[in-house]
This record gives sequence, C-alpha cells and structure tokens, in this order.
Amino acid sequence: MKREIYDEDHEAFRASVRQFLDREVTPHLETYAEHHGLDRDFWLAAGRQGFLGLEIPEEFGGSEAGDYRFNAVLTEELAKVNMTLPSCVGIHADITVPYLVHLTDDEQKARWLPKAATGELVTAIGMTEPGGGSDLANLRTTAVRDGDDWIISGSKTFITNGGSADLVLVAARTSPEKKAKGISLFAVDTTLDGFSVGRVLDKVGQDESDTAELAFDGVRVSGADLVGPLDTGFISMMQFLPQERLGSAITNLAHAKQILEETIQYAKDRQAFGQPIGSFQNTQFLLADLVTRIDVTEAFVDQCVLAHTKSELTPVDAAKAKWWTSQVQNDVLDHCVQVHGGYGFMNEYRVARAWRDARVTKIWAGSNEIMKMLIGRDLGL
Ligand SMILES: Cc1cc2nc3c(=O)[nH]c(=O)nc-3n(C[C@H](O)[C@H](O)[C@H](O)COP(=O)(O)OP(=O)(O)OC[C@H]3O[C@@H](n4cnc5c(N)ncnc54)[C@H](O)[C@@H]3O)c2cc1C
Repeated sequence: MKREIYDEDHEAFRASVRQFLDREVTPHLETYAEHHGLDRDFWLAAGRQGFLGLEIPEEFGGSEAGDYRFNAVLTEELAKVNMTLPSCVGIHADITVPYLVHLTDDEQKARWLPKAATGELVTAIGMTEPGGGSDLANLRTTAVRDGDDWIISGSKTFITNGGSADLVLVAARTSPEKKAKGISLFAVDTTLDGFSVGRVLDKVGQDESDTAELAFDGVRVSGADLVGPLDTGFISMMQFLPQERLGSAITNLAHAKQILEETIQYAKDRQAFGQPIGSFQNTQFLLADLVTRIDVTEAFVDQCVLAHTKSELTPVDAAKAKWWTSQVQNDVLDHCVQVHGGYGFMNEYRVARAWRDARVTKIWAGSNEIMKMLIGRDLGL
C-alpha cells in the first residue's frame, strides 16, 4: 500500500541515511557485536551527518527539524539494518535528548546539547532498577540534598548505552514520603566519583549494544544537574514515554517488514521437491497472512506518526502501537525462521539474529502487560 505520510524531503533524508549506513556502519556491524557496543566513531559519524540533533534547537547545535517524521525515517532505516542501531540511537537522540531540550534552562542546554548533537556526549536513561522496572513509582535510588548539591545512591540495570554513556539521566527519589510525586531527574556525568558501570550484560540478542548495570555510590551532583522541577520526574517520564513507545513501534514494524521481504525472496529461491518453497500453498498463505499483518499495522503506526507530528498522539494510542507491533514483529519473525528451515536457526543468517534481537520488544519500553493495563484503564476498567 502506498504510504502517504512522507513527502520528498523525507525521502531525500531517507536516501542520505541509507547512504551513511551502507558506507559507514554496515561494514562495522561484526566489530560492534564482538565488542558489545557501538564505538565512538559511530556516534561522531552520525553526529556529523546531523542525525543526532533532530530534536535539538539550532542555537545549540542541532537542526530542530520540528517534524517527527524525520525521526521516524531515521528509525526505520536503522531498523532495516538491525534492532540494535535504532535502540541505541533512539535512547540517545529520541528519548534522552528530548528531556534535556524541554526541561532545562539555557545554561544546561549549552552544557549538554551541542555535544549531544555531535556525538561527543552520548546519553542513556536510567529508570529501571534491579528490584523492578514496571512499577516506576516505587523506585529506590535516592537523591538526598546536601547544601546546594545532591547525593545520589542506588543502582540501575538493563541500561541501554550504559557501558559507554557520558551522561545518564537518572530517576531518583527526592521525597521518600511522596511515592510517584517524590521522584526527580538528574543528569549525571559518568566521570563523577561514586559512579561505576557494573556488568555489561550478556543478552540473548542485540549483541551490538552495551546494555549495563550502573551503580551510584554517593555520587555528588550539583543543583544545576537537576533536570526539570523538583519532584516532577514521574510526571515528566509519563509525558515523554509516548515518544519512546512510538519509536519502539516504528522500529518493530520496520525491522519485521525488512526481514519478511528477505524471507519472501528466500521462498522464491529455495527449492524443495523440485520447486520453490514459495510455490507450496502453505507458504503462499503464510506469507500472504504476514504481509497483510504488516500492511495493516503500518496503517495504524503511520497515523500515530502523523498524530505525534501534530502533538496529538495520546499515551493510549502509543501504548497500542507499542504492544501490537512487538507482538506482530515476534509472530512474523518466528514464521520467517520457519520458512528458512535449518538455516533460520543459524546465527550467520540475518533472520536468526533478527528473531533473537526482537524478543525483548515485548518486554522493554513498558512491557506489553503494562501497555494493556494503560489501555484497560482508559476503558474505565
Ligand atoms: C535489552 C534491554 C534494554 C533496556 N534498556 C533500558 C534503558 O535504557 N533504561 C531503562 O530504564 N530500562 C531499560 N530496560 C528495562 C525495561 O524497560 C524493563 O525490563 C521493563 O520495564 C520491565 O521491567 P522488569 O524487567 O523489572 O520486569 P518486572 O517489572 O519485574 O515485570 C516482570 C513481569 O511481570 C509483569 N508485570 C509487572 N507488573 C504487572 C502488572 N501490574 N500487571 C500485569 N503484569 C505485570 C511484566 O509485564 C513482566 O512480564 C531495558 C531492558 C532490556 C531487556
């Protein structure tokens, strides 16, 4: 189905992203996987292309595109390569940076944004703790006031870009008695005393990223590192999570669509019983089913992208897009593995890695159960 949401400017941008990925990223994918992380050259190259500054005002080094469709195009193209790139770039440019743009004063913007745009400063966001990620209001990391400073103590886990970030946006409890209304956000420079990276975690998939545990052992930050008003961190997270969930939905869909296209080609090429496996009615019906699921899902996600471009995306629609696309993605990829037969289980085949990489999408960015809880609440249940 012809997509109506992108114009020629978006398509020109898409072509430039593709060129960049072909030239400067794809040749290094195996190295990223071996090192369990994107290297700094990747970030600096993406910064030079202007891909990290789409949300950043021009006066602070970005392009402030002011049109979320550019973010969506970037996310789609990264996802066609693999799941890890949009996750890592998304956490930095599409998830953490917006907090630093919208909740900060000019002094803070000048300190963080120009380098975030160039890739000299890579960011991460630390919400999840070993004790729990779904119940954010119960987080235990504390920030205790000491004069003009704050002392942060606690730990975070599963943090994307955690092994290499220069700045982590940390959610910490500032008013113990106030639960959700007692959480604040701090931008923590990872060179500060008391901050340390624990294990870079051994994941089932997405080998190219340095998802890590972070420890805060009495990290002293200044009052100027508080992001947004005191005790409003939970509200801010709720405001910014829809963009994270939409980005996740765009990634899930583009990733599954790409692997499905490659699987259709495989079904044309691979022979069994003297004919292409795609000519068996079972394979035809299966692939017809899967492309329909992708196309119908794309129609909904595109409407969400348009709504978000007009600042009209509701948290409930973002939740629907997130859980649905992750389910579709996982279903589609599981069938794609099946179509590849034994090769589908071999890591040297993209489909196998894609299948492993995708499993997490039903868990992160708010698990699918939490998404359905939000939707159920909206039904008045
Ligand atoms: C690879 C990876 C990268 C990640 N990156 C980041 C990151 O950059 N920053 C960050 O802060 N976090 C990150 N996360 C954490 C992620 O967001 C959490 O794993 C997720 O929110 C779930 O939290 P949890 O793992 O503590 O599971 P839990 O909260 O312990 O939940 C366990 C299970 O119980 C279910 N459950 C919980 N509560 C309910 C309920 N009320 N009703 C029904 N079911 C419920 C959940 O859906 C889940 O199935 C990442 C995770 C992974 C795996």
